[in-house]
Amino acid sequence: MIVIVRVNKNHLFLKTIRVPDVRCPLCNTRGQMEMSFYQLQLEAGWVRNTKKISASVCCKNCHRDVPVVRWDKELDTCYKAEKKQITVKTSFKAGKIGKFLIWLNIVFFGAIFLLLAGIFIYHRIAPKQNAINREGQVRQSAQLATSPRPGDLVLVYLFDGHKQTLFKITAVDAASDVIKAIASDKSIDVPADASEVPATDADFKPGNETSFSMTDYRSRRFTAPDKQRVGNIQMIYRK
Ligand SMILES: [Zn+2]
Repeated sequence: MIVIVRVNKNHLFLKTIRVPDVRCPLCNTRGQMEMSFYQLQLEAGWVRNTKKISASVCCKNCHRDVPVVRWDKELDTCYKAEKKQITVKTSFKAGKIGKFLIWLNIVFFGAIFLLLAGIFIYHRIAPKQNAINREGQVRQSAQLATSPRPGDLVLVYLFDGHKQTLFKITAVDAASDVIKAIASDKSIDVPADASEVPATDADFKPGNETSFSMTDYRSRRFTAPDKQRVGNIQMIYRK
């Protein structure tokens, strides 16, 4: 937020010089011209003395100011030469309103900066947090693999079709070393948490159970009863 208030232009008087050899464009008299110089001052909530210099010309014979549009080459040359000789002090002073506006801007842009910095930092840290969650989930999956339970959701990388498919365990039979599971028809990415698994009970059609080796399941391999490797277990989720 930059608040712009009306800017006033003031012309600070610097000096007046006589320009003896110059002719008046209005009355054609020579030797009666005076040139005055001014420094441009801008004033709003603050006061700024600029390095811009302007001049006015007055004729002592006809007592008229010569407007800039009537200046001839002589006057113009004289003005430019004299202007070079003048050095002005530039300055900036903030008044009460100016100081208030400056502080308001500092606070405003400061707040925006902090907000952007916060968003930036958050986006640098958030993915790491996710990676940590995933590591934890991998460790937990290894543990869950040792004790399968009906209801466990198992994300399997299937060699056939090279896709990740979610299975749900429906039965565990330790005596005959068999677990039974139903595949969903969903191909999903690896979520970090059980709560992020995009599956409902309706995704697992009853009656479509397939049997897998429980021994191999414990070492996170999916093997059919005919000993054929079907895929690898990526994650196990227990809600
Ligand atoms: Zn004149």
